[in-house]
Amino acid sequence: MKQGKIAHSHTRMKSFDCPKRYYMQYIKKEPAGQDVFEPGRSLHEFAAQYGKHCLTERVKTDITKAEEIALTVISKVPLEKQDDFMALVKKFVDSHKFAHENIIGIEEEVCFDRELLPAPWYSNEAWFRGKIDLIESIDNESVLITDYKTGWAVDVDLRQLKTYAWLVSKQYPHVESFRVTQDYVRLNIISDVVVFNRGDLDDWEKKILKRCDAIEASVKAGKYKAVPGGRCKTCPYVMQCSTPPSELMVTDEASATLACKTVLVLEGQLDALKSQLKAYTAEHGPLIVNDQEFGHFISHGKTWDVDKFLQVCPDPSHYLSVNNTKAKKLSEDIIDAASVPSEKTSFRHKKYKEREI
Ligand code: SF4
Repeated sequence: MKQGKIAHSHTRMKSFDCPKRYYMQYIKKEPAGQDVFEPGRSLHEFAAQYGKHCLTERVKTDITKAEEIALTVISKVPLEKQDDFMALVKKFVDSHKFAHENIIGIEEEVCFDRELLPAPWYSNEAWFRGKIDLIESIDNESVLITDYKTGWAVDVDLRQLKTYAWLVSKQYPHVESFRVTQDYVRLNIISDVVVFNRGDLDDWEKKILKRCDAIEASVKAGKYKAVPGGRCKTCPYVMQCSTPPSELMVTDEASATLACKTVLVLEGQLDALKSQLKAYTAEHGPLIVNDQEFGHFISHGKTWDVDKFLQVCPDPSHYLSVNNTKAKKLSEDIIDAASVPSEKTSFRHKKYKEREI
């Protein structure tokens, strides 16, 4: 299949983790089920228009204008997703105030040519593109970069944060420090800020360029190798890639061999199905089936201050346990003196290594 000029982006680079996925997504442009990008795409459009309005008018918030913008954007949202879109808009407006005095860019289009020089977004020179939801100045040398997320799961993507920091570092050569965060609009959760200094991004740039070279070589050769693995869990093409399971009874070596193969396939398919559900519920919210609810739920935990624990606990030794991870931190002498050898069997499968029997 003939391919026109390539413009790279974070999303495309991520897709190329499995070149076969990249091929289906960007070369063959194969549909991956329903449009998983709505209502997120429209919320981004709303946030851009609303933020730019607040910036122009120098107001922190404007509910009347927000409703007006939402009513123009909603026409692009499929009917069945319009309620969700309006709920997201409400959450966004209720929880976001624009500190216009600090804002440098809203939905800023950052685009470079092959020499990493600024290029128009829609041009033959456009070689790497990224849209940054919000850039705010902290002081003369540092900025805060915010990426809006509209899904149901908090799942921080460090590669994306680093790539956005890199894009902004190219766009604003005087800035030295880049604080990057993801804003989960639906959950009203802001992820921890990750800080990159300009010097930290040099190696990342080399990795980005290497990845773009690899994509271009693959496209030129028309070769797209499948690289299955954990990434299949979130691949929108996983169902097109999987092998249907078979039903069988284990009665002899032939059927046992077939059963082993089926276990491998089913494990892959179970992971794939769970990943599909994870992605689906991240976009659409929880599903209730029989008496089970499938979806993403916030969990609240506790971490322990060891010194305080030791102060208030009458006899901490009753609460201590040793496992292999902790034991590995001990010296060999202590391990030898305190451990007892043990052997047992369990049914599982593991990678085969040739050995003497
Ligand atoms: S399912 Fe896995 S192997 Fe197939 S295209 Fe997706 S990531 Fe690649």
